[in-house]
Amino acid sequence: MNDGFKQLAMSFFNPTGTVVTRFAPSPTGFLHLGGARTALFNWLYARHYKGKFFLRLEDTDLERSKSVFQEDILESLRWLDLMWDDAIVIQSARKTRHQAIAKQLLNEGKAYRCLCTSEELAEMKAQALSQGFPPLYDRRWREKEAPEGMPYTLRLKVPLHGKTILEDGVQGTITVDQSTLDDMVLLRSDGTPTYMLAVVVDDHDMGVTHILRGDDHLTNAFRQLQIYNACGWNPPHMAHIPLIHDASGGKLSKRHGAVSVSSYRDLGILPQALENALLRLGWAHGNEERISRDQAIEWFDGKNLNRAPARFDLEKVWSLNAHYLRQKSPDVLWALLEPLLDEETKRNREKAFILLPALQQRAKTLDDIVSVLPIYTHEHFNPPGLDQKDKAILSLFMDTFKADTPWTPEALEESMRAWASSQAISFGALAKPLRLALTGQPVSPSLPEVMATLGKRWTLQRIEQAIFFESDEA
Ligand code: GLU
Repeated sequence: MNDGFKQLAMSFFNPTGTVVTRFAPSPTGFLHLGGARTALFNWLYARHYKGKFFLRLEDTDLERSKSVFQEDILESLRWLDLMWDDAIVIQSARKTRHQAIAKQLLNEGKAYRCLCTSEELAEMKAQALSQGFPPLYDRRWREKEAPEGMPYTLRLKVPLHGKTILEDGVQGTITVDQSTLDDMVLLRSDGTPTYMLAVVVDDHDMGVTHILRGDDHLTNAFRQLQIYNACGWNPPHMAHIPLIHDASGGKLSKRHGAVSVSSYRDLGILPQALENALLRLGWAHGNEERISRDQAIEWFDGKNLNRAPARFDLEKVWSLNAHYLRQKSPDVLWALLEPLLDEETKRNREKAFILLPALQQRAKTLDDIVSVLPIYTHEHFNPPGLDQKDKAILSLFMDTFKADTPWTPEALEESMRAWASSQAISFGALAKPLRLALTGQPVSPSLPEVMATLGKRWTLQRIEQAIFFESDEA
């Protein structure tokens, strides 16, 4: 009888042989930030060591697994450009293999049939709890020969004595006494494999050498190690990273804002910015804040993973996003914007291009640009309500302005300044109502540029509209 065992203490940090990592999401929800970080860390670790990164969909919970979630996970990974090697492994398709391993363990005397009914198990649990014991299965069928032909669950004969030691890449050495583990179910009474069995068999068959995942799987790790042990397989190296917390230190949840990757995409966040923010959640390279993908691959060697819970700071995502947005060339930026733009804006691409550099400078998200572009690219414009004084300034200005000022930003600026000083008013006194009339906004790119973009006809049209528009408030 095996007396517990120690996971092979090969280093997480200096792997020998080909590294194989995987991301194994369950399609029971949208890809959230925690999952995306796990995918990113596994991807980077594999790329750093020139290994493989596989994707496995753990869809064995047929009731909760949905194709909409599966699509979202794949789409979000593609959007983040975390592409996997080889074909996706679908866990449910490997059921026969899982069952075969379970049967093999039964034949080898490492697993046994248990005929307990769910009522018996519930009673066992209640009794243990009432006596102050952990609610573990009492192994009543472990040494009995269960008669054939009755419905049974298949349980693993977990070693009763000794310890299991995990050399975790993040948590360090963790030792668990065998007495705290129970004989876990491998096959349910309907013959379906349990998640615990499926994960181990799949990781083994896929040749996974390293697993990075959330520390909510730490307890599972010790149970999975029992299955590796029974099968006589080398377990992969594991690193359990602390879950992500929100800025105030609580668990990141929907109540505190967006948690799905797709909601960040829909907010106009660039994948690069989200990736960079995720990268810093539980990992650091000195104090580097902006880390390119090439640098990340170079630096992500499995060291410097942090044991303290990481805090997700939304402000940081915005500021990283603003930074990466500013770096885009007009063509690249346009390609990112295009899917989000309406037809009229797309048709008026030249107008948009004049203002893009200015809009890009102050935008925090793609959405900040998408929401203002129609002001400059749609002919139709709802006039703002101006007060009488502003209207008076605009009508006076219009008369001079209608003359033949050449329609270039420089000439327009000069004639505006000349007009303001001829009227002995400040440039601001003209600019404020003019900006409102042309854009409906209190801030905008520089006015001469706005006018050059709109063109003479639209500019005059908007000023006239503003002068003659009677709003309720004005
Ligand atoms: N399917 C599990 C989850 O989505 C992950 C399993 C694993 O990484 O071992 O949480």
